[in-house]
Amino acid sequence: MKILIVGGGGREHALAWKCAQSPAVSEVLVAPGNAGTELEPGVRNVQVSAEDIDALLQLAATENIDLTIIGPEVPLVAGIVDKFQEKGLRCFGPSAAASQLEGSKAFTKDFLKQHNIPTADYRNFDELEPALEYIREQGAPIVIKADGLAAGKGVIVAQTLAEAEAAATDMLGTGTFGDAGNRIVVEEFLEGEEASFIVITDGRNILPLATSQDHKARDDGDVGPNTGGMGAYSPAPVVTPEIEERILEQVIRPTLTGLREDGINYVGFLYAGLMITQEGIPKVIEFNCRLGDPETQPIMARLKSDLVALCEATLDGRLAEQQVEWDPRAALGVVMAAGGYPSSYARGERISGLPTVATGNAKVFHAGTRMDGEDVVTSGGRVLCVVGLGDSVAEAQAVAYTHTQKISWNNVYYRSDIGHRAISRDDD
Ligand code: AMP
Repeated sequence: MKILIVGGGGREHALAWKCAQSPAVSEVLVAPGNAGTELEPGVRNVQVSAEDIDALLQLAATENIDLTIIGPEVPLVAGIVDKFQEKGLRCFGPSAAASQLEGSKAFTKDFLKQHNIPTADYRNFDELEPALEYIREQGAPIVIKADGLAAGKGVIVAQTLAEAEAAATDMLGTGTFGDAGNRIVVEEFLEGEEASFIVITDGRNILPLATSQDHKARDDGDVGPNTGGMGAYSPAPVVTPEIEERILEQVIRPTLTGLREDGINYVGFLYAGLMITQEGIPKVIEFNCRLGDPETQPIMARLKSDLVALCEATLDGRLAEQQVEWDPRAALGVVMAAGGYPSSYARGERISGLPTVATGNAKVFHAGTRMDGEDVVTSGGRVLCVVGLGDSVAEAQAVAYTHTQKISWNNVYYRSDIGHRAISRDDD
């Protein structure tokens, strides 16, 4: 089989690496990929943008691709799966209609409310004055969210009224977020512990992936600006078997059933970002219509089953028969970023110390990298994700940092405490 992975980040490197291990797979193409996928055995980069759906359709047809797996949300929300299916091409991911769960926060909040799925109280606004009035009525802390896709930057958790008013004014009044901010959601501030939960589904059957947790804040101690994610680990001890059961019964199943009632069948990876309240209720913060980055990297490092076979079974309606096998070890990924990320940062820095041979307990996944002749250089904010495996999260952390410390470039930045919550929980 020939597989096409759409995207060029760390998630896509992990997916391509995993697919290339499938005995059924002869070659994996990645569009556009990065230096990591270029150097990966059995994997070939193709210089087509992940957002150019027409060019991707053409690529899949001329290369006789048997299965395309979509990494990022933008092509999913734009309807890439529908367009592939119209041409009779197999494509793994939700349709445009199903991807609204990520593409529109206002759609999702209305959907959750209508189907009685636990989430924070909220109101949607497309005009500034009523939004400001509601914010003043509710008081701080309060959360302001741009409706559309904003590359993870459209959420302001405001601790003061002034901050909340400024965020709403920014989004609705000044157009800072473009079309994504034409509508906003003003939401109750939830307290509790965050967890993410990812499943593979064909719309009816659900196969939960190993639990995982990421760190969104840039700096040690979970402070500093919000980022796409500075590291992640699996399993996440906050998701106990009881909580997992509750998430499945109170969130995932009613979501899929509710979508079907509304005429939408969800096929693909579904990612729920949750706040587990003190009462143990999983409240939905957000849905993503794809795998998380960097959660995918530790999850793929633990996945022993054949990913291609799982995707094929999902598309063929055979998901119920599937068993997934996980490496019992914990996996932890440290994101190595360009200094200055998530604001401005340099590109084109030469990376030294990358491993030349594979080891059994660590893997370096690339994100913002490209080849410059024989050199690997930086080309984005999040550059690498170094994953270690160990018998506990603490051991996986030690392995990951041992390998992280061997790699460097000018102005490299990474957190030194990825996994601290899971590790202190284990110590209790
Ligand atoms: P989102 O992009 O919706 O996942 O939001 C980004 C981050 O903002 C989340 O990971 C949470 O840490 C935080 N957040 C979002 N909504 C809320 C809420 N209602 N209460 C507290 N924190 C929130």
